[in-house]
Amino acid sequence: MNADRQAVTVIGLGSMGSALAAALLDRGHPTTVWNRSPHKAGPLVDRGARLAPTPEEAVAASPLTIACVLDYDALYAVLDPGAESVAGRTLVNLTSGSPEQAHEAVAWARSRGADYLDGAILTTPPGVGSAEMMFLYSGSRAVFETHRPTLAALGDPLHLGTDPGLASLYDAALLGLMWSTLTGWLHGTALVTAEKTQATTFTPVAVRWLTAVAGFMTTYAPQVDAGHYPGDDATVDVQITAIDHLVHAAAARGIDNSLPELLKSAMLRAKATGHGSDSYASLIEVLRNPAGGN
Ligand code: NAP
Repeated sequence: MNADRQAVTVIGLGSMGSALAAALLDRGHPTTVWNRSPHKAGPLVDRGARLAPTPEEAVAASPLTIACVLDYDALYAVLDPGAESVAGRTLVNLTSGSPEQAHEAVAWARSRGADYLDGAILTTPPGVGSAEMMFLYSGSRAVFETHRPTLAALGDPLHLGTDPGLASLYDAALLGLMWSTLTGWLHGTALVTAEKTQATTFTPVAVRWLTAVAGFMTTYAPQVDAGHYPGDDATVDVQITAIDHLVHAAAARGIDNSLPELLKSAMLRAKATGHGSDSYASLIEVLRNPAGGN
């Protein structure tokens, strides 16, 4: 342990909480842990963590408590019985939830005299401790700045704003991006592997293509902010023609076409509302107005 490192408590030692506690131990933070099933603390105790007998004693052991349990019901189940122990301390909650749950948790902490930051983890446990991985935080900037050096042990800490719901909101948006991207990649992989190309052969080309796609996002973001979608690179009409090639090629190989059909239907709705000669970014209008009115 390192005397100039802040003492930290970690509540919740599932896959993620154990990785968080291990990263803190790696950086020399005196680390107290608690978990409903205490045997999960064994490997951490072997590395120098202190296992507290109760959540109250765990919270009381450190100025900063990081909680990472399954959901908010579990969080309150753990913290409510000894809630007076959080007074004068900081709770950083890395449990996944909704923006509304983050707002409720701020009120819960404030009414008990605790500072609160909400957070979201954009990696899996093996990535914890890497400065490449983003950890999103929202809530008081002063509380964030106070604890930033400790939070940096877990990954790159990004403060999104003082609205405590922002971390959960970004988390949901970014998971949606991940699932859409992964499913698009798997659909493409099903297509090329139908012709005896290995996934490992296709994927480096796909990854390189994602770099170009990221460039399109950067081009389109100001268009979305301006509500103006000049189709000077590629129009919705052109994309509708192009997606038919994908639908045809996949159907001919017996591959499920739900994803491209969904995308094509959004493009057709954009065209129907006058965006045929606009850029792909104009689909935001369809997403924002699914009922199709003006
Ligand atoms: P996990 O391995 O299933 O661990 C769940 C943790 O919650 C365990 O410590 C478990 O205690 C505790 N728990 C569940 N119900 C409880 C209850 N009623 N009372 C007290 N404790 C309870 O899950 P995880 O992967 O660590 O995920 C934890 C959180 O991190 C989730 O919100 C998840 O969405 C988020 N997260 C995970 C990842 C990931 O890649 N794993 C990535 C980003 C975010 P026991 O050990 O006693 O069961």
